[in-house]
Amino acid sequence: MSKKVYLITGGCGFIGSCLIRELLKDDNIKVINIDKLSYASNPSAIGEVSKDNYIFYQEDISDRNSITNIIKDHNPHYIINLAAESHVDRSIDGPEVFIKSNITGTFNILDLSYQYWLDLGEDLKSKFKFIHVSTDEVYGTLNANEKPFIEESAYKPNNPYSASKASSDHLVRAWYETYNFPSIITNTTNNYGPWQFYEKLIPLVITKCLNGQPIPIYGDGKQVRDWIHVEDHVNGILTVLSKGSAGEKYNIGNNNEIENITVVNTICNLLDDLLSFEKGHHNKLIQFVKDRPGHDQRYALNNKKVLSLGWKPQIEWDDGIKSTIEWYLKNKNYLNPKDKESYSGERLGTI
Ligand code: NAD
Repeated sequence: MSKKVYLITGGCGFIGSCLIRELLKDDNIKVINIDKLSYASNPSAIGEVSKDNYIFYQEDISDRNSITNIIKDHNPHYIINLAAESHVDRSIDGPEVFIKSNITGTFNILDLSYQYWLDLGEDLKSKFKFIHVSTDEVYGTLNANEKPFIEESAYKPNNPYSASKASSDHLVRAWYETYNFPSIITNTTNNYGPWQFYEKLIPLVITKCLNGQPIPIYGDGKQVRDWIHVEDHVNGILTVLSKGSAGEKYNIGNNNEIENITVVNTICNLLDDLLSFEKGHHNKLIQFVKDRPGHDQRYALNNKKVLSLGWKPQIEWDDGIKSTIEWYLKNKNYLNPKDKESYSGERLGTI
C-alpha cells in the first residue's frame, strides 16, 4: 500500500512535533516537515524516525522557490500549516518577523498549495485538504459574563501576534471563497504538555521554581485561559482533517477555563510535593509586575462544532498538568537550553 503523505510546516515546534509523533505511529504515513528552525524549535522532539517515513527540510515557508520544489517532489495528500512566530511578548517588541512568517509565509504556503492542488488528478484533488492551525486570540478578549467565542464570532485581535494570525486566517478563508481551495481553519486555545519552549507560561514557571527565582505575574494574574493538552489538540486537528468540511472553521477548545494565578499556584503546589518541599515553598516566589500592554482578559471557545465530528478531549487537567511537570523534571536540560538565542526584550520572563 502506498503511504499517505502529510506535509507539515513548523513541525519542529511544540505542537507540530507532537502532531508528527502522532502521525508516525502509523507506518502507512510519510511526513514531510518544513521548519526554519527558529529559537523555539527542537528537532529532537520528533524522536526516532525511519528515513522511509520522514523527511525534514530546513526552510522558511516564505521562500517561494524552495517550497515549490518540496511540494512538487513529494506530492502530499494533505498539508497542515503550523509554522508561525508564536510568542505575544516577542511580537510586541519586534512585530516584523511575525508579519513575515505568519502573514507572508501563510500566503506563500497557501498559494503554492493551491497551485499544486489545481493540477492534481481528480481522485487526489477531491480528497486533498489544507489545514491552517490558528488561535483563539484572533477573536480578542471576553469579559467574565460573555459567552465563549463561536466560529462566527468577529475577529478583534489586540496584539501584533494575534493580528498576524487573524490576517493569515482571512487569507485562508479567501482562498476557499475565491478559488474553492479545500482549506479549513482550526482555532485552538492555550496548549500545554511536553516540549514547549521554556519562555511560555508553564515551562517558565517550572524554570523559575527550579532556579529559586521570582515568578513574575502580569497585573493581578486573574486573566483567564482555556487550557488544552497538546495531544488532545493534535487529535482534534486530525479529526478535522478526516471529518471536517472544506471552507469551515473549528474551535478546538477544552472548556477548561483557569485564571493564570491558579495555574501558577497549581504548579508551585505540585512542585512542593514532587520535590519534597514544605507546602507553600514555591508560592513565595510569586511577584506581581506591571501588566502587558493590550493584555486580553479572557479567552474561551465554544467547541460544540468539533465535538459534533466525534472528537473528545481525553486528558483531564489535573492529570495532564502533573504529568507535564514530571516530564519537565525529567528533562531539565530542555528548560535551560544553552544553544538557544536568549530573548532580551523588557518583558523577558513575565507571564
Ligand atoms: P512554536 O513557536 O513552538 O513552534 C513554531 C515552529 O514554527 C518553530 O519550530 C519555528 O521554527 C517554525 N517556524 C516559524 N516561522 C517559520 C517560517 N517562516 N518558516 C518555517 N518554519 C517556521 O509554536 P507552537 O506553540 O508549536 O504553535 C504552532 C501553531 O499553533 C502556531 O501557528 C501558533 O500560532 C498556533 N497556536 C499555538 C498555541 C499554543 O498554545 N502553543 C495556541 C493557539 C495556536
